[in-house]
Amino acid sequence: MDHQDTTRPHTAEWHARLNGILGSAACRQLGVYVIPDHFLLSVVIPVFNERHTLMSLLDRVRAVPVRKEIVLVDDCSRDGTTDLLRELEKTPNNDALNTLSIQFHSVNRGKGAAVRTGFSRATGDVLIIQDADLEYDPAEIPRLLQPIIEGRADVVFGSRFLGDQPHRVLYYWHYLANKGLTMLSNLFTNLNLTDMETCYKLFSKEIMSQISPTLQQERFGIEPELTAKVSAIPCRIFEMSISYHGRTYDEGKKIGLKDGFSALWCITKYGVQSILARRKIKAARKKTRH
Ligand SMILES: [Mg+2]
Repeated sequence: MDHQDTTRPHTAEWHARLNGILGSAACRQLGVYVIPDHFLLSVVIPVFNERHTLMSLLDRVRAVPVRKEIVLVDDCSRDGTTDLLRELEKTPNNDALNTLSIQFHSVNRGKGAAVRTGFSRATGDVLIIQDADLEYDPAEIPRLLQPIIEGRADVVFGSRFLGDQPHRVLYYWHYLANKGLTMLSNLFTNLNLTDMETCYKLFSKEIMSQISPTLQQERFGIEPELTAKVSAIPCRIFEMSISYHGRTYDEGKKIGLKDGFSALWCITKYGVQSILARRKIKAARKKTRH
């Protein structure tokens, strides 16, 4: 896809044409908006043993009509994924919309560690986490970006429990666990989220620069940690519906019961820290007012 292509979605020309037909209200509702040419999105992809899905996922990410830096972090995969990425590293990139950065961990550390390595390499205006399976659809990324690009939000969470996008019907106990963990997290953070464990979390560069140096979690505890940390700083958080094409354990899902217990611990630990941080901000504000 040519970066200068004026028929490319989200260019000013494309928007003007559709705006003339549909009008501005319909355009806003349909996610027809302009993404400035200079805008850069960092897509951070933690990867562990995903040789069956990685290349299709990457094609889908590349096809998103936004200028991107794709940061892949291989978490010492053992199923041949690393060889795929080494090959990819050697392939010349003549794609004007996408640049690739590939990082390799020498030992397996977990999703949180891979995400943190990705964040430390990312230079974009907005950062998004994208799992390397096909559970989340990259075609929804422009919709999720809209509130940030339009200056209404600093952080956006995609929710699997909102709206009428297609959701594969799967494990009920997982659903309950997700709901329970989200509720507990909300009690600490005072945010009314519906899906704390979602992979789709978007952060403006400014917010990420505050959070990134403080991140600690190596495994799936990164989700409650990120949530508590955004709740502890003054920022505007939005939630939007996304589709969910969940996979079974036979199809490669890895999260397990142990991760659920570790999530409980992380929610409590970072939740208490977020309460204290919010109190501090409140007290400081009171002081400056007097
Ligand atoms: Mg997944």
